Amino acid sequence: MAVATLDSITDEQQAILEMVRQFVDEQIIPNAEHYDGADEYPEPIVEQLKELGLFGITIPEEYGGLGLDLTTYVMVVEELSRGWISISGVINTHFIGSYLLMKYGSDEQKQKYLPRMATGEIRAAFSLSEPELGSDVQAIKTNAKKLDDGKYEINGQKMWVTNGLMSALVFVLVKTDPDAQPRHKGFTCFITEKEAGVGENTGEYAGLTVPPKIKKMGYKGVESTELVYDGYKCPAENVLGGEDAGLNKGFAQMMDALEVGRVNTSRPAASAWPSAPSSPPCATRRSARRSASRSPSTRRSSSSSPTWPRRSTPPGC
Ligand SMILES: Cc1cc2nc3c(=O)[nH]c(=O)nc-3n(C[C@H](O)[C@H](O)[C@H](O)COP(=O)(O)OP(=O)(O)OC[C@H]3O[C@@H](n4cnc5c(N)ncnc54)[C@H](O)[C@@H]3O)c2cc1C
Repeated sequence: MAVATLDSITDEQQAILEMVRQFVDEQIIPNAEHYDGADEYPEPIVEQLKELGLFGITIPEEYGGLGLDLTTYVMVVEELSRGWISISGVINTHFIGSYLLMKYGSDEQKQKYLPRMATGEIRAAFSLSEPELGSDVQAIKTNAKKLDDGKYEINGQKMWVTNGLMSALVFVLVKTDPDAQPRHKGFTCFITEKEAGVGENTGEYAGLTVPPKIKKMGYKGVESTELVYDGYKCPAENVLGGEDAGLNKGFAQMMDALEVGRVNTSRPAASAWPSAPSSPPCATRRSARRSASRSPSTRRSSSSSPTWPRRSTPPGC
């Protein structure tokens, strides 16, 4: 995925950022307090994110996305987080899933999923963590065993899955070779399909349960859930990259995607939250800077003079 510099910002990127800024001001900021206070999934805002094409921001145009670079994505999530940080959470695991498909997916997997991911019709989650592990990814216990019919049966419990309920695809890292040494050579990423918004999956997705969302002290509105795989059957073609190329290659794939996905952790953290009732002073100062940067004179400036505000102070303050 290309990384642009702020100096090379294009007219198209500029137009997208202006559009996102207006969307944040008009649709997110006035509603953030309600959704955050009620810890309610912001369905109407998500619908508008779909209409704006933001679920396909980095997905290539040939799959119906906007085909933009990582730098533009960073700018967009920073802007979204200015309104409400949870919106960046709705976008980011989807972004990570699209990145995994774009970089490691087979042609068939890209054709099958990316067009519907670009529109936001289906959305993605990303699952490494378990009740007993976070940082120590090699301690994953959830496992997959190949059955006689060629499918893989997945068993185990995942934890802290952002978009765990509302996603229709979960990119899940599981152990496929318990004897592998070093251990990281024994993990595979499966694309597990499920029904969005459903706790107890049935039919072809039977064996995947999403317990009620975990209560959190922040980052509300976007759900964090457990995922219980109990005899879930996953077709071999849903090994990321295909069975031949992807079996036991999942650790490096997921670490790569996690690293890229970190932009979503760092940029929103640096963004202010002017709509929060208890915004810290630095947020107020930043808000004032942003207001200044949105003056009519800068908004109408040409692409050779980017209107995206450059940070002259340390991130976060
Ligand atoms: C709101 C939220 C959303 C999340 N979303 C997802 C998601 O979508 N998908 C997903 O898979 N996970 C998700 N997570 C889980 C997240 O990735 C983990 O919380 C993270 O990996 C840290 O794991 P942990 O909380 O178990 O902390 P630990 O791994 O126990 O770490 C605790 C502290 O110890 C430090 N530490 C750990 N090991 C070492 C070591 N060897 N040496 C020195 N220091 C060490 C860590 O840096 C940290 O400061 C989410 C978590 C939260 C809170």
